[in-house]
Amino acid sequence: MTVGDIIARLEAMAPPSLAESYDNVGLLVGDRSQRCQAVLLSLDVTEAVLEEAERRGCDLVVSHHPLIFGGLRRVTEDDLVGRLLSRAIRSRISLYAIHTNLDNVVTGINGWLADCFHLRERRPLQPLAGTLRKLHTFVPGQHLPAVRQALFDAGAGHIGQYSGCSFSVPGTGSFRAEAGASPMVGQIGVDHYEAEDRLEVVFPAWRESKVVSALLATHPYEEVAYDIVRSENPMPGLGAGLIGRLPEPMSEASLLDHIQQACGTPCIRHSSLTGRTVQTLALCGGAGAFLLPAAIASGADAYLTADLKYHEFFQPEGRLLLADIGHFESEQGFMEGIRSYLADFFPTFALLKTEISTQPVHYHQ
Ligand SMILES: [Zn+2]
Repeated sequence: MTVGDIIARLEAMAPPSLAESYDNVGLLVGDRSQRCQAVLLSLDVTEAVLEEAERRGCDLVVSHHPLIFGGLRRVTEDDLVGRLLSRAIRSRISLYAIHTNLDNVVTGINGWLADCFHLRERRPLQPLAGTLRKLHTFVPGQHLPAVRQALFDAGAGHIGQYSGCSFSVPGTGSFRAEAGASPMVGQIGVDHYEAEDRLEVVFPAWRESKVVSALLATHPYEEVAYDIVRSENPMPGLGAGLIGRLPEPMSEASLLDHIQQACGTPCIRHSSLTGRTVQTLALCGGAGAFLLPAAIASGADAYLTADLKYHEFFQPEGRLLLADIGHFESEQGFMEGIRSYLADFFPTFALLKTEISTQPVHYHQ
């Protein structure tokens, strides 16, 4: 097992291209080809977490929050980030961050938070546009099945819970091969008309190079005619935040009690109670004030997130219950979520959850 083997699985779950532009995800320190004996999972990389990784023989730390975030100009022992990076490099520990790309997958950090409430009919609160592409290509009829299958094998043709989705329609292609060409059909310098099918498939943007390679490898023509266009349709399951329905309606007071119990948040700051029962719940692990307008517009009865400021508690105006459930508390499902996902692929491999609480916020009660 190498560091790269683990990374490949993580990137299949949450492709780095789904990360926000300000973020810094992926392999931040280390070597993909390095042998990996054990992985340590933690929300944050701290001195104590690195010490734990050394002690428990972990070659890779997978964290939610990236240790290198802003512009890094130097790595010295003068500051905390420099000391942590130096220690990781000295101890040959790779550091991998899976952050806003995981936030943009509905089965990721928000899905694990939604599990605490057994939410049903889950969908992203703010769907992610611009991640879907469409390929149009033109294939001589007898080659259509092979080209279509190669595109499916490369990851094209998935729409929601359906695979093998495509559309084709017969037509006529025209071309004249110029000097130097070696056409599969037709003669040099002579206009040629060929029965072709126009084939269409959708695919996620991050599969583009694989899809194009598969097309070029299986299409019989010397020059393959194709177009890739950006679709504004959102891809199901991708986007920020999550909205879903509670199995049973709850009073606002019992929802707040349930959060305290399920997330272990000792003190929940919330807006005025609306007096209504909660059936539809919106949530966003971590700092989610940016989704408050989407939560209000969605008609959710309550919105759970973290890192809220004073003035933000005015915004609901009785339309929903807004609650700050704590940043660490809302994201702590990360360790078990990643562990159980990786364990499906590597059942006998050492996937260790940190035994250290990296919670930097303490509550005086
Ligand atoms: Zn966070």
